[in-house]
Amino acid sequence: MAQYDVIVIGAGPGGYVAAIRCAQLGLKTACVEGRETLGGTCLNVGCIPSKALLHATHQLHEAEHNFATMGLKGKSPSVDWDQMKAYKSDVVGQNTKGIEFLFKKNKIDWLKGWGSIPAAGQVKVGDEVHEAKNIIIASGSEPSSIPGVEIDENIVVSSTGALDLKKIPKKLAVIGAGVIGLELGSVYARLGSEVQVIEFLDVITPGMDKEVQRNFQKILKKQGMTFTMGAAVQKVETTKTKAKLTYKLRKDDSEHTIDADTVLVATGRKPFTDGLGLEALGVEISPRGQIKTDNQWRTNVPGIYAIGDAIDGPMLAHKAEDEGMAAAEVIAGKHGHVNYDVIPGVIYTAPEVASVGKTEDQLKEEGVAYKVGKFSFMGNARAKAVFQGDGFVKLIADKETDRVLGCHIIGPGAGDLIHEICVGMEFGASAEDIALTCHAHPTFSEAVREAALACGDGAIHM
Ligand code: NAD
Repeated sequence: MAQYDVIVIGAGPGGYVAAIRCAQLGLKTACVEGRETLGGTCLNVGCIPSKALLHATHQLHEAEHNFATMGLKGKSPSVDWDQMKAYKSDVVGQNTKGIEFLFKKNKIDWLKGWGSIPAAGQVKVGDEVHEAKNIIIASGSEPSSIPGVEIDENIVVSSTGALDLKKIPKKLAVIGAGVIGLELGSVYARLGSEVQVIEFLDVITPGMDKEVQRNFQKILKKQGMTFTMGAAVQKVETTKTKAKLTYKLRKDDSEHTIDADTVLVATGRKPFTDGLGLEALGVEISPRGQIKTDNQWRTNVPGIYAIGDAIDGPMLAHKAEDEGMAAAEVIAGKHGHVNYDVIPGVIYTAPEVASVGKTEDQLKEEGVAYKVGKFSFMGNARAKAVFQGDGFVKLIADKETDRVLGCHIIGPGAGDLIHEICVGMEFGASAEDIALTCHAHPTFSEAVREAALACGDGAIHM
C-alpha cells in the first residue's frame, strides 16, 4: 500500500495546482484522475477548447467584416469545421500534456482511475487502496439541466457536446444567457448559425453591472444573436435530427414553441461528488450539493479538505486554483489565504467583459457612498484603430476615501485589463493612484486610467 502526505482527488485547475503546490512544499503527493488526460473540465471540455473556438471564429469575423476596410481584399475564408475542431483538440492536447510534464517534474504520482474515500486517510483507486495523511477533494462540477430537458449530447447538448458538434447547426437555441450560453452562442453566431437565447430573467449575465448587461446585450444583438427574455423553458422534445423547445413567458404565462437543430443547455453547473463515498464518511454537504468547509478548506472530517467547484463560491477555474494553493499551504503548516473580495470574472466574447469587486447595486444595498468614473473605448485611439470602440470602463471608488471598490469593463482585452484593478484593490489603491500611474500610449489600458481620472477632476479624452 502506497503512503502519501497528500492525495488530491481530481486533476482540474483546482486539483492539479493543489498537487503541484503540495509537492513544491515538500509533501509526498499523488493526484487521482479518471479521465484519459489531466486538466479536468477546464482544459478538456471547458475554458481551453472554448477559447480556441472563440479565437478561430473571431478571426473569421474579422475577415468577413473588417479586412476589406483595411485594404485586405479577396474571398473571405470558408469554414472547414473538422479542421477547426482538430485545431481545438491540438490546443487541448498541448495543455493537458503540459500538466503531465509538470506532474513528472514535481514527482507527483498520477493515480489513474476514479477515486473514492473508504475511510479518512484512505483513497481507493480501482482495487488499490492508498494511504494519505491528507486528502484534498477537487472533484469539480458537471452541467445541471432543468426539469423537462434531457441532455443527450447530440441534439440537446451541454457545453461539452457544444464544443464537438458533428456539424454547424442552422438554428441553435440556447437556454440561459449566462457565461456559457453567451460564449458558445457567439461562436456559432459567427459560424453562421441562427442563435436564439432563451433566458428566464429580464437581464443577461445575472449579477453583473446593469450598464454592462444592457450594453453587452445590445452588442450581441448587433452581432446577430436574438434574445427571448423573461422566458422559462418548460421542455425540449427531440426527433432524430431536430428539437422542439417550449417556453412560457413570465409576463403573461403564454406558451410558445420554437424549432432548432441543436439546443444548448447552459443553465448552470452543480458540484460533482458522485462515487466519492462522502455520505458514508459523514462529510457535511449543503442543500445545494456543495461540500461544506471552514475558511481553511477543511471539511468536518479531520484530514479531508475540499476546494473549487465542489464547494461554495463562484465556479471559476482561477478561484479553484487559488484555493488549491492555499489548501496546500495550510496542510504544509503555512498560512493559506484567498481574498474572495478580489476574484475577477471574465466573459471571453468579443468584446470581452470583465469585472471585479462591487457593483453599484451591491454598494447601494450596503449603504456605501460611492462615485463612478466612466470612459468609453470610443475615446481610446488603439481601440478605434482595431474596430473595437464599443464598450467602456467603469471604475467605482469610495466617495469619501477614493479607495477602489470595483471595476466593470466591456471592451477589447477586458479580461487582461481587469488585473491592474485587481492588483490595485489588493494594495488598497485609490482611484487617484491608478490615475497617477503612467500608462503607455497607445494601449487599451489607457481607458482604465481615464476611468480613474474620471473619478477625480475628469478624463482627458472625453
Ligand atoms: P450561469 O449560472 O452563468 O447562467 C445560467 C443562466 O440560465 C442564468 O442566466 C439563468 O437565469 C438561466 N436559466 C436558468 N433556468 C432557466 C430556464 N428554465 N429557462 C431559461 N433560462 C434559465 O451558468 P452557465 O452559463 O451554465 O455557466 C456555469 C458555470 O460555469 C458558471 O458558474 C460560470 O461562471 C462557469 N463558467 C465560467 C466561464 C468563464 O469564466 N468565462 C466560462 C464558462 C463557464
